[in-house]
Amino acid sequence: ELVINQIAAGEVVQRPANAVKELIENSLDAQATQITISARAGGLKLLQVQDNGKGIARADMDIVCERHTTSKLRELEDLQTIASFGFRGEALASVSHVAHVSLTSRTADAPCAYTCEYADGKPKAPTRLCAGNAGTTVTVEDLFFNQPTRTTALKSATDELNKIADVVTRYAVHNPAVSFTLRRFGAGNDLRTPGYGTVPAAITALFGSTVAKVRHGSIGDEEREVVLRAAGVLARPLFLGPVANGGRSSKKSMFMLFINERSVECRQLKQAIDLLFSTQDVVCPLVYLDLKIDPRRVDVNCHPTKNHVQFLDQTAVFERVQEVNFLDVEVEGL
Ligand code: ADP
Ligand code: MG
Repeated sequence: ELVINQIAAGEVVQRPANAVKELIENSLDAQATQITISARAGGLKLLQVQDNGKGIARADMDIVCERHTTSKLRELEDLQTIASFGFRGEALASVSHVAHVSLTSRTADAPCAYTCEYADGKPKAPTRLCAGNAGTTVTVEDLFFNQPTRTTALKSATDELNKIADVVTRYAVHNPAVSFTLRRFGAGNDLRTPGYGTVPAAITALFGSTVAKVRHGSIGDEEREVVLRAAGVLARPLFLGPVANGGRSSKKSMFMLFINERSVECRQLKQAIDLLFSTQDVVCPLVYLDLKIDPRRVDVNCHPTKNHVQFLDQTAVFERVQEVNFLDVEVEGL
């Protein structure tokens, strides 16, 4: 069973950035307003996510890393989203099968913090008292120590760190009311967002430039059964000016896509966005798109990490997204 668990874990956590994503989502679920991510050696030596969220009760410390342990009972409407996008009670369990995991957590009403170390889903020793602030710190050491084939398949520490920074950047833009910090220990400056609450403020903090255009709106199309709310941001953090190369963007754009609060990738939608901008006289290095869509219209089963999506009604979705019309709107707060 251990082997099966390790294989399953390897599907959920294929690289350090996947673990970071799951841990950040847990911190957000715990209503954290400050999340600090630390990574050493591309996250393979050390990955740590510290939050000021609601914490884990003493009684739950023993079981949180067990498979299918979840405290998240959600509304019916949400169930479909979780079933299709997320993994239920799998993240901590998976990580504990492929790394040395320890948790330190304190709830608001607890007299002190508690800490525990885990292996293969179970505590290695009884939970102990310790000092600590309200919130949770998850420490992941020696990721893939028992998966030699996985480590050789990974890219360099620098590439893995860049992938971690990419995940942090996306979640920081999507959650501007939360202050994110990424510590890279000499492998790059800290990334930090202020948590002021607007997407442009987060983008400015991360990319050091102003947001060019912001568009926020709802687009409904009940008739075609594609109900989609889209908020888009077009930022030009790198340079402004007319596009060289015959109207084609000379810089590859950065495309941040969130569907129902989860960061996902969609190659077809990225191509559609690129096409949209290729005909315009702007350079567009950054597009952030926040879609709310009926989960039944989205197919996430084309990749085991569930990070890649396809739309069942692709043309309709692309048409809706084009209506976000980044090009006609002046700067405003989101
Ligand atoms: P899921 O998020 O699907 O519930 P996880 O394996 O990611 O599954 O987490 C298991 C449980 O551990 C969560 O349901 C939650 O109760 C608890 N937990 C994990 N991380 C945190 C955190 N940062 N703050 C508070 N509780 C957490
Ligand atoms: Mg989770």
